[in-house]
Amino acid sequence: MHYYEVLLLRSSAPSLTYYFNQPLIKGSIVSVPLKTTVKEAVVIREVEKPEFETAEIVSVSDKYYTDEQMEIAKFISEYYFSSFGESISLFIPFVRISSPKMTEKESEVSLPTLTPSQQKAYIQLLKKDKALLFGVTGSGKTEIFISLMAKMLEEGKTSIFLMPEISLTPQMEKRLKVYFGESVAMWHSKLTKRKKESILEGIQSGEVRIVAGARSALFVPLENLGLIVVDEEHDDSYKAMTRPRYHARDVAVLMGQKLGAKVVLASATPSMTSYYKYDVVKLEKPYVEAKKKYTFITGDTVSSPILNALYHNYKAKEQSLLFLPTRGNFKYLYCESCGKTHLCPYCSVGMALHRNHRHLKCHYCNFTEAIQDTCSSCGHTPLKSERMGTAEAIEVIGSAVEGIQVEQFDKDSITTAKKLKEALGRFESGESDLLLGTQMLSKGHDYSNITLSVIMGLDYILGLADYRARERAMSLLFQIAGRSGRAKEADVIVQTGDAAFFKNYLSDYELFIKDELAFLEMAHYPPFASLARILIAHKDESKAGKITLDTVTKLKAFEDIEIVGHGKAPVERIANKFRFNILLRSKSRVPLLKALHSVDCREIEIDFDPVEFS
Ligand SMILES: [Zn+2]
Ligand SMILES: [Zn+2]
Repeated sequence: MHYYEVLLLRSSAPSLTYYFNQPLIKGSIVSVPLKTTVKEAVVIREVEKPEFETAEIVSVSDKYYTDEQMEIAKFISEYYFSSFGESISLFIPFVRISSPKMTEKESEVSLPTLTPSQQKAYIQLLKKDKALLFGVTGSGKTEIFISLMAKMLEEGKTSIFLMPEISLTPQMEKRLKVYFGESVAMWHSKLTKRKKESILEGIQSGEVRIVAGARSALFVPLENLGLIVVDEEHDDSYKAMTRPRYHARDVAVLMGQKLGAKVVLASATPSMTSYYKYDVVKLEKPYVEAKKKYTFITGDTVSSPILNALYHNYKAKEQSLLFLPTRGNFKYLYCESCGKTHLCPYCSVGMALHRNHRHLKCHYCNFTEAIQDTCSSCGHTPLKSERMGTAEAIEVIGSAVEGIQVEQFDKDSITTAKKLKEALGRFESGESDLLLGTQMLSKGHDYSNITLSVIMGLDYILGLADYRARERAMSLLFQIAGRSGRAKEADVIVQTGDAAFFKNYLSDYELFIKDELAFLEMAHYPPFASLARILIAHKDESKAGKITLDTVTKLKAFEDIEIVGHGKAPVERIANKFRFNILLRSKSRVPLLKALHSVDCREIEIDFDPVEFS
């Protein structure tokens, strides 16, 4: 008889032991009895006959996880503080097949013609195991990806192509199908079960050799993986917000190392971390560069210069785009005159206004102070906190510009993929004149005819309680401005009280990265430090507070980590649970991981390398 330690899939339960009359391989997926039900589990190892009574494994499936999948899942569970059962369940297992693989069809792929600068970048990427492809929006990164994927096909290897949002997949699918036909499949979490099964069959038979999609596409069972592309690598949607709280970009890099696959990260506005850590391959500006004219205005409403510009563009039968930041849960005090947000003196992040408590609070270190009335940088008074939302902006524009058709583009109105497609369709066909929305606008959709972009509320982003506030604001400006002026000249109106900051970098994002890295190093933030956030949520407020304090006490024993702050979370209550948090920092990741692995994780949630602080 053989005895096996197994872990239940999609579960955080500890390992269990069962017996079976035949030898089983590590990674095999089996069915085991548990109380009155039968559960799926993965075989971890064979063990000695235990002292206690064990039950028999009910059945063994033809599915299994490879050693590499098991190793990567182990890393994810340790680094991102989830159970192995949860992290291995991210992966789709391989299937043992008896039928021989389809012999590879010698299909001729007609490749896109690369410009000399694309060709140069392509050659450089071929020589590197992992690299960051840095090129402005519209510089033709996609043709390079296509060439790399075609090269993999030629070598009998497979590819994974990641995009930050499901909503981007239809546009990309069209482009990829032109070159790869049935060899490419789109994968994301919203696919039906049947569709997923048919893709998996395609992968098994060898017909599907390129899988493109949102972050879950990273975990499909492709044999002989040669390439992983992470497009728009700076995008925060690569970070999972539920357990396992992994970052798909970072897992992609690890996976590439383990499997010997090339990893290409790409962006027009790369993350500080990637620029700092990886070799950079620059894609020079496209040779036909559309001209953009920037105008900077102050204020925080849809003011007359904005309305005028929208009116004239509408009358000229041209299309416009207007960006407003999502209104978060907090208000920040900001200066209308110079655009500066009132910052925490210790953390360099915006102090949030707690009107009920009549004070300002830093959500990193919990420093509080009285509500301020005067701007500390220019002396202007009073400071403001109210901001306009999308609905209000549409109302103002609708009544000022008669006849203009506005397409609302935010999470309130674009709730399904179908609605997204319809909204983009109406705009593309010219049925609507103005695309007005939030962060969603910056996500890589192509709008070919926009000749006017208005970017409002950048100061709000600049003042967020987030150490990456400047990066987020600058990246947004570049991403949104990059959506216009593709075909013809375009105007870009930027509303900020801090025009000098943005003007400095308009022609050179790399210069911004260099300055920002210097700031991050000085202020001890990633990539020069490691951050972790502990979240505590409990129905009983005093219990939540007690768990927080107990955890802090335990962590204080570790001298090489810093407790930046602890207390009530910025969003104090979600789903009837009171939320507390602890923010931790250390010079490198190892001491922080060590300290966190020593605390009891059952009542807390650990977010390693957090990108979200509410
Ligand atoms: Zn000011
Ligand atoms: Zn602070």
